[in-house]
Amino acid sequence: MPLTDTLNRPLRDLRISVTDRCNFRCVYCMPKEIFGPDYQFLPRAEILTFEEITRLARIFVGFGARKIRLTGGEPLVRRDLHLLISMLSAIPDVDLTLTTNGSLLARQARLLKDAGLKRVTVSLDSLDNETFKALNDVDFPVEKVLEGMDAAAEVGLLPIKVNMVVKRGVNESSILPMARFFRKKGYILRFIEYMDVGNTNGWRMNDVVPAVEIIKTINAEMPLEPLEPSYRGEVANRWRYKDGSGEIGVVASVTQPFCRDCNRARLSAEGALYTCLFAVKGNDLRALLRGGASDDEISQSIMRVWNNRSDRYSELRSENTASLPKVEMSHIGG
Ligand code: SAM
Ligand code: SF4
Ligand code: SF4
Repeated sequence: MPLTDTLNRPLRDLRISVTDRCNFRCVYCMPKEIFGPDYQFLPRAEILTFEEITRLARIFVGFGARKIRLTGGEPLVRRDLHLLISMLSAIPDVDLTLTTNGSLLARQARLLKDAGLKRVTVSLDSLDNETFKALNDVDFPVEKVLEGMDAAAEVGLLPIKVNMVVKRGVNESSILPMARFFRKKGYILRFIEYMDVGNTNGWRMNDVVPAVEIIKTINAEMPLEPLEPSYRGEVANRWRYKDGSGEIGVVASVTQPFCRDCNRARLSAEGALYTCLFAVKGNDLRALLRGGASDDEISQSIMRVWNNRSDRYSELRSENTASLPKVEMSHIGG
């Protein structure tokens, strides 16, 4: 039975964080000053098991979710992730994908594909090692991420999408080299406006490179024209190269908010349901799972949460809202 919220938005897209841990310390997501050696990650027992995740996923699909994206933290650091993929891929009519930093992709691509994963999105913020290492803050080289993407392409996890977060003064000079490179490769590059997720990245509006500026920069060298969205609620605005050599996307959540069509539910690693990336608090589904609730009782609870949903943070964003308390991105994924 399809659900709708107070703004008449359906639930179509489920993002599942399978871990709050990551082997990178991207400065815009898990800055080292906070996520240092003393940071308390979730103990194993508090994280949902694969069986618990799959049980919830089936209920969400019953409510109309058609896309499941695994995320984190870094999803590929969760042990035996391919087993979860094979459990989720048994649910009919679901587009199953994941977002990864690519560091462990080369060695897992085949296993993931064989388990039933359809495609992947790989994050990469620059082709220049100095810039990329300054952003991932763990000295991880560009070449290894590219190897991961190529391994994914080779086993057919297609189309490959590449996420690039653009931060003013840090990697804007990488916009054109990235566009040129991935146009040749045939991977779909998506530029993401730097967002004020969480409370640790010190976000300022001045750090955001607006989508219009990104498009203008690329268009000056490689002419672009807009494409229609593939479906309602698509996050990225799509553009194609006029010469037919491929497409790019821009996720303009800061300068062109798309809350009106936001159909995403997010499940944190410890089983809390979040109805917005910028929410303060989630709704504890793990307590129900572990307290012996029936599928029907869990469904009722999800229904109540979604029916009451009124989130539209990005439409209300200002310099002042940036300091409001919010969940960290690494907790619920992008
Ligand atoms: N670790 C995986 C990765 O990096 O692809 C998955 C989780 S990560 C939180 C999901 C996406 O969110 C990544 O593409 C990342 O670049 C993006 N992201 C993280 N912090 C962001 C921020 N402050 N603004 C915009 N995008 C951000
Ligand atoms: Fe890790 Fe992804 Fe966050 Fe970077 S963006 S710190 S890779 S979870
Ligand atoms: Fe959806 Fe919240 Fe982002 Fe708006 S701010 S698009 S409601 S996740």
